[in-house]
Amino acid sequence: ALHNSYLNLKGNIRVFCRFRPRLPNEAEEAKVDFHGDEQSITLQSEMLKSVTGLSEHCNSYDFHFDHIFTPQSSQAEVFEELAMLVQSALDGYRVAIFAYGQTGGGKTYTMDGPAPMSETSGESRGVIPRTVDLIFQEVQELSSKGWSFEVRCTLLEVYNESVFDILASRQKLDMGKETNRAAGTDGRQAIEHFTSRPVSDAAQVHRLLAKAARERHVSSTALNDRSSRSHSVFQLSLEGFRHGGESVSGLLSLVDLAGSERVSASMVSGDRLKEAQYINRSLSALGDVVEALKRKKPGSHVPYRNSRLTMLLKDSLGGDAKALMFVNVSPCLSQLPETLSSLRFAAKVH
Ligand code: ADP
Ligand code: MG
Repeated sequence: ALHNSYLNLKGNIRVFCRFRPRLPNEAEEAKVDFHGDEQSITLQSEMLKSVTGLSEHCNSYDFHFDHIFTPQSSQAEVFEELAMLVQSALDGYRVAIFAYGQTGGGKTYTMDGPAPMSETSGESRGVIPRTVDLIFQEVQELSSKGWSFEVRCTLLEVYNESVFDILASRQKLDMGKETNRAAGTDGRQAIEHFTSRPVSDAAQVHRLLAKAARERHVSSTALNDRSSRSHSVFQLSLEGFRHGGESVSGLLSLVDLAGSERVSASMVSGDRLKEAQYINRSLSALGDVVEALKRKKPGSHVPYRNSRLTMLLKDSLGGDAKALMFVNVSPCLSQLPETLSSLRFAAKVH
């Protein structure tokens, strides 16, 4: 109840933009010249005109977001801006946090921290390990007020419209649309088939995440870095009870999305093309769902069923759920066409 008023004030959907720093091997590259404040940004440079791959010839672009993080922003500063959102899951809210952007834009750095995920302490930890610590810290505090919480953890990977249950040896889930439609419950029916592992402290979740990261690494070398072409979903469900029958039920979903880069159909074929088509479809389905939720006309249709990802996240996104989308972008001029396309996607849902 503590955080509600703040969140209502801010609305249900927020978009944070984050420019990563240039990497050591990019030190010689021209940088996008951007300036602005915490909420608006102008990309401006004479050099913009010369960037190949831009169809229009414009030398300045303006964007507005709820918060803009610069290459200098630390992981702690980023988390500070969303800690209250995370805490609201303990008040019974459903909270979904996404990282959107091209491969190499900084999604995994923002969500996990520098790879591998085994690092559970230190300043460079990302949103997920910080969220896990904060939740268990709060659960501890709430226990002195008579609340006891049951926390459960789910880890899923969505690849080519198939869902894999990481906590069940990456078992592929059989969640056909027909089954769900027959049950009349959409994604909710499916979610019950996932492993939902009871967890009792932060260290246990960090271990699960580290193990999943190691396994992902092994499979990624075999499968040609599948991680950048799959959506990775981490969920914590929070059921709180208090003597006298009071109860709350919250859900946190943290999603590292597949790379949003345009893959030209003329450049790829076969498996790569199929992957690219699945990714495009699921990311645009997510954009459509978020846009529909933002408009929030009562009774209006929200198109969850257009992709596995949105079906999976139906519970996390509907109703009074809170969503936050990071748009993670590169500061390099050579990446500007992708950066603009990411910023436009994010501006549309904002
Ligand atoms: P993505 O997951 O979007 O493909 P990554 O998170 O893997 O991108 O980031 C690409 C590279 O940039 C990685 O080497 C990562 O460690 C680095 N990086 C990304 N964001 C930051 C940041 N804010 N500070 C320092 N390094 C970063
Ligand atoms: Mg990544």
